Amino acid sequence: MRDETTTGDLDAALEALAAAPRLIVALDFDGTLAPFADDPSQVGALPGSWAAVLTLNRAKDTEVVLVSGRPLGSLAAVTHAPEDMALVGSHGVEWRVDGHAEAALTADELERVARIGAALDEVGARFPGVVVEHKPAGHGVHTRRVSADVASEANAAASRAAHDADPEVLERGGKDILEFAVRHVTKGDAIVRLRDLHGADAVFFAGDDVTDEDGFRVLGEGDVGVKVGPGETRAGFRIDDPAALTGVLKQLARLRATR
Ligand SMILES: [Mg+2]
Repeated sequence: MRDETTTGDLDAALEALAAAPRLIVALDFDGTLAPFADDPSQVGALPGSWAAVLTLNRAKDTEVVLVSGRPLGSLAAVTHAPEDMALVGSHGVEWRVDGHAEAALTADELERVARIGAALDEVGARFPGVVVEHKPAGHGVHTRRVSADVASEANAAASRAAHDADPEVLERGGKDILEFAVRHVTKGDAIVRLRDLHGADAVFFAGDDVTDEDGFRVLGEGDVGVKVGPGETRAGFRIDDPAALTGVLKQLARLRATR
């Protein structure tokens, strides 16, 4: 784990990365391409970042994929991503690759998702300001709009309710969100699968949240991982915020287009 890296290091790493015969550019959305907003349906990628993403998506032997904890439908709606851009939603459970959507939960899993969701709705009703978001493979309990005390109380109640409803439920925390799912797939699994699928020689991955650490964990020599914002990370590089990522993506797009 590294704490400090210089921009010069990142420049050199991007230059080497851009020379890879086949490249995957994997990007988290919220907090990475898009700044956070109270209403998750109202966020958008920073225009400069999105322009660079579209340029990269058109570049030869370059696959752009958005890898998000959002459900696939929400990710597609909020990004207006072109059909040929790969989308991975629900931390790797849902895929849209080459225009084909894939969800693949069993009937039993769907039943468990419904049961957990009903239990969490009861908790949500007891805590005004806490929002329960229903996703295809699980649910998110959002505490962005409440105080830290209320958040921790709501999280404890949600955790108890979800485990009572389904002892096998998988729990994971993020920024102002506690998630409950029935299938353990991570962004790391998604990146490994994408690398295979595209026969990629190198991967660029940027993300801001704890769930993105699963992605950084599967990167190897020649790959570039960029952590956006504060917090402990396994990524090789760190930048301040989504605005700083715009410069990085522009540089990568330029290098990739002129190689
Ligand atoms: Mg994020």
